[in-house]
Amino acid sequence: MTITSDINQVVAQLRQQVCDLHAVLTHYELVIWTAGNVSARVPDRDLMVIKPSGAEYASMRADDMVVCDLYGNLVDGALAPSSDTAAHAYVYRHMPEVGGVVHTHSTYATAWAARGEPIPCVLTMIADEFGGDIPVGPFALIGDDSIGRGIVETLRDSRSRAVLMRNHGPFTIGRTARDAVKAAVMVEDVARTVHISRQLGSPSTIDEADVAALFDRYQNVYGQTGQHADDLQENQR
Ligand SMILES: [Zn+2]
Repeated sequence: MTITSDINQVVAQLRQQVCDLHAVLTHYELVIWTAGNVSARVPDRDLMVIKPSGAEYASMRADDMVVCDLYGNLVDGALAPSSDTAAHAYVYRHMPEVGGVVHTHSTYATAWAARGEPIPCVLTMIADEFGGDIPVGPFALIGDDSIGRGIVETLRDSRSRAVLMRNHGPFTIGRTARDAVKAAVMVEDVARTVHISRQLGSPSTIDEADVAALFDRYQNVYGQTGQHADDLQENQR
C-alpha cells in the first residue's frame, strides 16, 4: 500500500485536520503530556492518518502525522505511529461507517471507566449525543487487537459513539474525525455533570421512549436522514 498521486492532496488535508484536532483535545483539557490520539480514515482507501507516538501537543505539525494501513503498518511518515494505532485500525476494518476515532484519558470519563460503571442516560444531552447509557467495554491490554475488538463489540449494537474501556478510558468514534472529537468532548462533559449530580443524590432517569425521540430528533436535524447536523454545518462552511 502506497500513497498514490491522486490522493496526495486528500492525505495532506487530513494530516492538517488531524493535527488541528489534537489542539481541541488540549483546549478542553482532555489530555496531559503525550497521552491521547486522533485518527481519520482516508476515504475510499484502506488507509488512515494518525498522531505519531510520543508527540508533544505544543510542537505538533501536520507533517508529523503518519499514514498507516488498516493493520497499523506505517505507510508514510518519519515518526512511529501512536501506540494505540492497532485499536484505531481494528475499528476502521470492522466499522466501515466510521471515519474518525479518538482516545483520551479525560478525567471524569476515565473515573467512570475505573469503576467499570456506564454513565446513565439522565440528561437530554446524553440522549441527544449518545442515545442512551454510555457503555463500558472490557478490560484489554495494549499491544494486540484486544482493545479494538472490545471497542467494536461494545459499540456495534449501541447508539453510543463513546465507550468507556474498563480501567483505561474513553474511545469515541464518528463519521468524521471532528465528529469523534466532539464525542470525546461531550463524553467528558456529561461524565463530569453526572458525577457532580451523584454527589447530591440520585439523578432521575429518562423514559426509554423519550430517549429514543430525543436521539432521533437530534441526529436527524433538518430531516437529513443519516447525516448529523454537525456534519451539515461543516459542509456549509
Ligand atoms: Zn490509553
